Amino acid sequence: MIDLRSDTVTRPTEAMRRAIASAEVGDDVFGDDPTVNRLEAMVAERLGTEASLFVTSGTQSNLCALLAHCGRGDEYIAGDTAHTFRLEAGGGAVLGGIAPQPVATETDGLPNPDAVAAAVKPDDTHFARTRLLCLENTKNGMVQSPERMDEAIKVARDADLSVHLDGARMWNACVELGVSGAELVAGCDSVSMCLSKGLGAPAGSLLSGPRALIDEARKWRKMLGGGLRQAGVLAAAGIYALENNVDRLADDHARAALLAAGLADIDGIEVNAVNTNMMFISIDGASSDLQQRLADRGVLCDVRRTRGHKGPSPYAQLAGTRLVTHLGINDDDVRAATAAFAAALSDSA
Ligand SMILES: *Cc1c(COP(=O)(O)O)cnc(C)c1O
Repeated sequence: MIDLRSDTVTRPTEAMRRAIASAEVGDDVFGDDPTVNRLEAMVAERLGTEASLFVTSGTQSNLCALLAHCGRGDEYIAGDTAHTFRLEAGGGAVLGGIAPQPVATETDGLPNPDAVAAAVKPDDTHFARTRLLCLENTKNGMVQSPERMDEAIKVARDADLSVHLDGARMWNACVELGVSGAELVAGCDSVSMCLSKGLGAPAGSLLSGPRALIDEARKWRKMLGGGLRQAGVLAAAGIYALENNVDRLADDHARAALLAAGLADIDGIEVNAVNTNMMFISIDGASSDLQQRLADRGVLCDVRRTRGHKGPSPYAQLAGTRLVTHLGINDDDVRAATAAFAAALSDSA
């Protein structure tokens, strides 16, 4: 199957499985797993931070960050389409007593800097204490340059807020911009990144930042049930992914552009946006039936009936059908998927 639902559907390659099989392991709750320790050190080094923490998922990573930065009665600001705000089951509020304060999102996914400034609460008994700004890069695949992130970071600094980057797909941004991980995240206090999306590992994320914050996050991870034992089998996959699968993200971006160009030529498909390894399309007559006809032709995707709008905007894109390229998609798959869409749509005509 040509699976375009997400870049999380990748399976470990033979080489990654060999790295997993030969991983040296120990009990990570004692700090004894050499492979976990190596991965944590490697990510801290690549991001120019003091320390890192291996966690089970991006959601756990962002939640550990919220809990480490904020206490009960504190507040964090995030874009109103941000993953931390919309798609993590309200964990910060449920488990931390931390109030979310969403603000308008710009066309590239950055929380609007003026809206951030306006959302910061004064020191007054009526208000929650505003503590943290959460950024997200990439956002729906959209990239913000470090300079662009700095526009919001400056507002946060002026208000004495800390800054957390949800960088689940931060390496896609680095590859697209031609900057290092450390350059991208230089203005942030903490960073979350996923190994299990475009990088092709089966599970795992890392939270990085100053040593004291990471020590605090480690305690929260324990409370969240995320203390793993011989986690080196997973960390080995992460090390393999960072060493081998970062630069190749450029291929995913090129294939997304190629697929979008092919789909744009098909009657009944409108390409609303192509961002790094994702595209958002509107399909005439979109239905579960169409989704089945695509599956019958070997293409898996999540067909949305709702139409997105043209142009780069997190609001515009959310409504349409999302297609994602990843290391399981080669050039032949792009050609076959384009042909499958053309055939599945002409069947319905
Ligand atoms: C996927 C994702 C997460 C959460 O990661 P999981 O590993 O699925 O919990 C967080 N933020 C962004 C931007 C993501 O895309």
